[in-house]
Amino acid sequence: MAVTEDAAAIAGELAHLRRAIHAEPETGLHLPLTQEKILAALDGLPVEVTRGSALTSVTAVLRGGAGGGPVVLLRADMDALPVTERTGLDFASRIDGTMHACGHDLHSAMLVGAARLLSARRADLPGSVVFMFQPGEEGYGGAKFMIEEGVLDAAGERAAAAYALHVASAELSAGVFSTREGPMMAAADALNITVHGRGGHGSQPHHAADPIPVACEIVTALQVLVTRTFDIFDPVVITVGSFHAGTTNNVIPDEARLQVTIRSFSADARALVREAAVRLIHDTASAHGLTATAEFENSYPVTVNDQREARFATEVVADLLGEDRFLPQANPMAGAEDFSFVLDQVPGAFVMLGACPPPVDPATAPFNHSAFAVFDDTVLADGAALFTELAVRRLNR
Ligand SMILES: [Zn+2]
Ligand SMILES: [Zn+2]
Repeated sequence: MAVTEDAAAIAGELAHLRRAIHAEPETGLHLPLTQEKILAALDGLPVEVTRGSALTSVTAVLRGGAGGGPVVLLRADMDALPVTERTGLDFASRIDGTMHACGHDLHSAMLVGAARLLSARRADLPGSVVFMFQPGEEGYGGAKFMIEEGVLDAAGERAAAAYALHVASAELSAGVFSTREGPMMAAADALNITVHGRGGHGSQPHHAADPIPVACEIVTALQVLVTRTFDIFDPVVITVGSFHAGTTNNVIPDEARLQVTIRSFSADARALVREAAVRLIHDTASAHGLTATAEFENSYPVTVNDQREARFATEVVADLLGEDRFLPQANPMAGAEDFSFVLDQVPGAFVMLGACPPPVDPATAPFNHSAFAVFDDTVLADGAALFTELAVRRLNR
């Protein structure tokens, strides 16, 4: 039977699993309830399952019966966000302050579906498939931990190709896939700045070293840096999202703290902005006789799709589901993804899948991370089918 028909036949079970995961969301690197559900769903399949040590990941390896071929890796992230769900769905989060607002519950269910569909085709597969169920995508770098624990070599040799799907609650119509060659998602660098001054009485600033005007200058200078140092066709975004200093109007504080996110779309621009921003922060503080510290944390590199693999994924979507189910993505997205750590080492593609529930207009629907974001179950079968077809065709290439 065709992959799409097989996938449609298990759509109800995938929706059931997705809703169970959705109702009990977990954040971060430790997702014991989610891990349990994935392990139960894989139970009975002819896969070798291992669990992570540093995180509650699940790695499953399916060894094809037709031997000899390469290894293909398929990845789903499993974690939720610290958001209080306001969708009103009957399977909405039962855990206060936590929500699957980025659709990772769908990714997990689709990858379970692919594991089932590929297991049924095991005898004909010339090679192995690694199923990577990953916690901690939302800022915890879970993919990096799984790479350190060997996921890329889980089948005994390095994966030759890697694919991930990501659902979107807006912008794309339900069932429409989208990707592009080259940069797909931004690099995200989180920068924490502290301007160290010397506190004092607000009426006598000459006896103090006021960190507030210096911090203000840094905020503005960072925006000037963006416009004067970077190619407009290789853009950089710097946003100071948090600025904290002081307690009241007549006390000069000791320090000011800023939290900044920096987005870039090439390794060159990323290296340049990291170096230039830190220099500017130090030198601006120093110009006023103060000091500053600037530290990066939890950063993700640019997610870069391999040209050949992105083209391949595009062809597979059109072939499997029809030309009208694919929309080329003109520009990279400014969000970031830790699948970038996988694509830094293995050629592959990150593919978006529209999951905006009809008849809601994707142009105005609440986007991923919103407390109102709704993802339609009906895309699960096609997501599982695409994962399956990508693996089958790539193994046979
Ligand atoms: Zn997200
Ligand atoms: Zn996500």
